[in-house]
Amino acid sequence: MRISGDWLDNPGTQAVLGMLTGAGHHALAVGGCVRNSLLGVPVTDVDIATSALPETVSNLAENAGLRAVPTGIAHGTVTIVAHGEGFEVTTFRHDEESFGRHARVSFGASLEQDAARRDFTMNALYAQADGTIVDPLGGLPDLHARRLRFVGDPDARIREDYLRILRFFRFHAQYGDPQQGLDPDALAACAEHSAMLETLSAERITAELKKLLAAEDPAPAVASMAQTGVLLHVLPGAQPQALPLLVHLEEGKPGSFIRRLAVLTESVESLRLSKAEARDFGKVRDAFSSMDSPAALGWKLGQRLATDALLGRAALLETPPAPDWARQVMRGAQADFPLKPADLMPMLMGPSLGLALSRAQTHWLAHDLVPGKAELLALLGLA
Ligand code: ATP
Ligand code: MG
Repeated sequence: MRISGDWLDNPGTQAVLGMLTGAGHHALAVGGCVRNSLLGVPVTDVDIATSALPETVSNLAENAGLRAVPTGIAHGTVTIVAHGEGFEVTTFRHDEESFGRHARVSFGASLEQDAARRDFTMNALYAQADGTIVDPLGGLPDLHARRLRFVGDPDARIREDYLRILRFFRFHAQYGDPQQGLDPDALAACAEHSAMLETLSAERITAELKKLLAAEDPAPAVASMAQTGVLLHVLPGAQPQALPLLVHLEEGKPGSFIRRLAVLTESVESLRLSKAEARDFGKVRDAFSSMDSPAALGWKLGQRLATDALLGRAALLETPPAPDWARQVMRGAQADFPLKPADLMPMLMGPSLGLALSRAQTHWLAHDLVPGKAELLALLGLA
């Protein structure tokens, strides 16, 4: 079986693979790029696995005039920049002993050993430079059935790295068959070790959760996470019930992961969000408890966050938003509050000016942004 795709044919990928195979080493694309290409899903980054040792990879790159950056030497990863793109090149490795994520690794392993240390069979697929698929663990039938299967015994693999619990639900959400239940042995192992998720860094958890929530429909996976107790260990206090309705209301146009997160939980203290994400999350959550109209939300929050707030609120209240909500949000986002401070001066100055403006604004928002300048001035007794 052979695959093709821009990501494989592109001169950067071919240069890196060719540089290694030309020197007599094995070199193959592996993991997400091969999996996604087989599924017809866009490929974001190309990872390469090779029999060459990290030092050899660096030396070969230098001789070929390519930049080599030792980005993960302990894991055997060198990033090579070719034709303006970065490729993570990782030496075939064998995890001898694992202490959580700190595996004692040995290099010079075979491709089969390299496959065996990966998490799921659909992530242990390789492609040669000409597109020939190498499938040492029978990942292809699993991928075609959209069946997420651990490489080896789920319990043992989870004990090596508890993040695999989250990755199990994440990949199921992204690529699994929602009609098919999750593997019962794997679910049991996830449930048994769920408390150990609390030992992982907030960064790793957040990265997985973001990808999970960005899936087309994460609701079935999140429901399984709740049933197994996994959800509460990554998001204490989270409630999964409103997520399916939110996904339905999104009508196949998923938005930010913040929106989905906001219907699951009140608190994101367990996560590591960027400042902008945390601010957006706070604004959307605050809007859930307000009675603001779609136009008022649009004016206060702008179109993107108002949409998040409106759909999230509708899902939590189990009440669909007004049919023309999107138009109203847009109207609000483009509206200008009709009064300027100068309109109230010199009749009002200082603190009384501020108070009057805010009173007029409350009135304007409560009346769906309809009152004009004359009506607002009259309200303030200034007409
Ligand atoms: P994505 O499209 O989200 O990047 P991916 O499959 O490339 O998907 P990565 O997290 O980038 O996922 O990991 C690259 C590959 O490395 C995986 O396909 C898998 O083979 C292996 N891998 C990553 N993390 C783990 C882990 N915790 N345990 C075992 N193997 C892993
Ligand atoms: Mg990847």
